[in-house]
Amino acid sequence: MSDEPRFLNDVTVELVKHSASDTDVLWAARVSTAGEQSLEEVNKDPERSKGLINYLMRDRHGSPFEHNSMTFFVSAPILVFREFMRHRVGWSYNEESGRYRELEPVFYVPGEQRKLVQEGKPGRYVFVDGTPEQHKLVTEAMEGAYRQSYAAYQEMLEAGVAREVARAVLPVGLFSTMYATCNARSLMHFLSLRTKNEQAKVPSFPQREIEMVAEKMEAAWAELMPLTHAAFVANGRVAP
Ligand SMILES: Cc1cc2nc3c(=O)[nH]c(=O)nc-3n(C[C@H](O)[C@H](O)[C@H](O)COP(=O)(O)OP(=O)(O)OC[C@H]3O[C@@H](n4cnc5c(N)ncnc54)[C@H](O)[C@@H]3O)c2cc1C
Repeated sequence: MSDEPRFLNDVTVELVKHSASDTDVLWAARVSTAGEQSLEEVNKDPERSKGLINYLMRDRHGSPFEHNSMTFFVSAPILVFREFMRHRVGWSYNEESGRYRELEPVFYVPGEQRKLVQEGKPGRYVFVDGTPEQHKLVTEAMEGAYRQSYAAYQEMLEAGVAREVARAVLPVGLFSTMYATCNARSLMHFLSLRTKNEQAKVPSFPQREIEMVAEKMEAAWAELMPLTHAAFVANGRVAP
């Protein structure tokens, strides 16, 4: 492992395991009417299937969207994880441990596209581009602070201090990793809050870095469950 800090301006999201398709929604919903025959009903009429998913989404019949599973590997700064783990329902998490392993020097520094300046009131504010000088300042200030804190961490480890104690000097810009498992319903709830989208009936104003994770999750989910994703968007990005 190299002790030389690495600076990243993006997050990683990989769909590592899944059992999720539009038909999972259909058979769960059709058990109401077709009982044990519902599995055979699933592929009979694609237009009807699309209509049923849209109806369930529109009228917020949520439970048929829970019979599926997606596990994502996420690598992102700790500040993202703090927000992510507020999502308690329909999510399972396992995160790397700073007690059991030495944490790697990988840190977040915003890229040039990241808007830096906040304008307006809380709840109504917008973010606008930073100047080149502001970007330079952010990069230099963050990289300097990261180097310093990681050097202090290493110094303590070398002196025999336990990892769980020494890690206190590391900042929330440090990257962490986790597996996060959800179903389509809990993912939709997460996406409704953690993406900013003009099609949303209820606008949200998420921190850009968790939105970067959310956008990658949404893209992977849309491929697995295109009808469900289309119905989510068509109904104003409200979780059923
Ligand atoms: C833009 C934004 C800004 C935020 N700012 C802050 C902040 O400044 N400070 C802060 O602390 N948090 C903040 N949060 C976090 C926010 O308050 C929620 O904790 C987070 O979005 C998770 O949402 P949730 O509770 O709906 O999700 P989940 O925990 O996944 O719950 C899903 C749903 O289950 C139901 N539910 C879950 N638990 C309970 C319960 N105990 N009682 C009743 N119903 C329950 C609710 O219907 C809930 O919507 C912010 C979130 C966003 C999106």
